[in-house]
Amino acid sequence: MNDALQPDALSIHRSIVTMDTHIDIPWPTGPDPFQDGVRRVDLPKMIRGGVSAACFVAYVPQTTRTVASEDAAYGRAIAMLDQINRMEAMPSPIPMRIANRADAVVAAKRAGVLAIVPCVENGFAVGADLGRIVEFRRRGAIYMTMTHNGHNALADSCNPRRDLGDRETEHGGLSPLGRAAIGVMNKVGMLVDVAHTSRDTMVQAAEVSRSPIVSTHSCVSAICDHSRNMTDWQLDVIRDVKGVIQITAVSAFLKANARPSEVTVVDFADHIDHAVRRIGIDHVGISSDFDGGGGFSDWHDASQSPNITMELVRRGYDRGALEKLWGGNFLRVMRVAEGLAD
Ligand SMILES: [Zn+2]
Repeated sequence: MNDALQPDALSIHRSIVTMDTHIDIPWPTGPDPFQDGVRRVDLPKMIRGGVSAACFVAYVPQTTRTVASEDAAYGRAIAMLDQINRMEAMPSPIPMRIANRADAVVAAKRAGVLAIVPCVENGFAVGADLGRIVEFRRRGAIYMTMTHNGHNALADSCNPRRDLGDRETEHGGLSPLGRAAIGVMNKVGMLVDVAHTSRDTMVQAAEVSRSPIVSTHSCVSAICDHSRNMTDWQLDVIRDVKGVIQITAVSAFLKANARPSEVTVVDFADHIDHAVRRIGIDHVGISSDFDGGGGFSDWHDASQSPNITMELVRRGYDRGALEKLWGGNFLRVMRVAEGLAD
């Protein structure tokens, strides 16, 4: 380790927009996000770790698909988004605001205010009512993952749920409803997130979507063969549509059969390096999946985020590259989606 590099790495880390694109929030109740508690991400840890923007995700688990369960999933997603939005009105010693556009994320950083960015995980919550996507965006959601584990009415997942009766494929990728859903997402300026989708879903989403697709939390198959990771040809698809893959901190995606304690920032940076070499610095980013399965030995919570920057600096990534990885690329794609919205 070149210690002379470390102060410089820290000053870069503190001066750029650092956006973690996937963080689960507790539901229905959990520790106060304004207090330093047992969560891997709360506002005090963001401050200590120099994380300027955090995507807080309204996640709905996949269950058996009935109209009633889809309605319940929608109700939960809306209630979670409302709770995220209510944070802004709460008294907080740490200034924060809700940011639902790229410019707002950048403005918050300039103002020295944390940006919390609402998102939705699992298109299951849409059911058969595409108007729900409009309601998600009205509540600030900037992306929605098409699936979680298990196929839904919109698309096939990379992890079929045998316990819910899933076969390997159901729609052969996107369903007609899923294609229409992407049309609505494009209309309202919401990014199409292919983390969790099957490979066919991913390729079809890249073709159908007018805005670049993203994977907000995946790693690369070339280093760790896992259903949630992207093969090299999938990385090429992301590059071809000018999208972005946000390498994530889930130990099982980073290193085969490894426990979180056995994974380090070196493993994480290996995935970043591979993706950058394959598709270029403009199409790769960083996410944690904290409080949803992410976290390893030396990126255990948001307060340790500078460790990522220090490892990347050690590998020769300069300020411009770090800016792109830590949010610049994701913000660029957000701006494209916003620009295409009606
Ligand atoms: Zn996820």
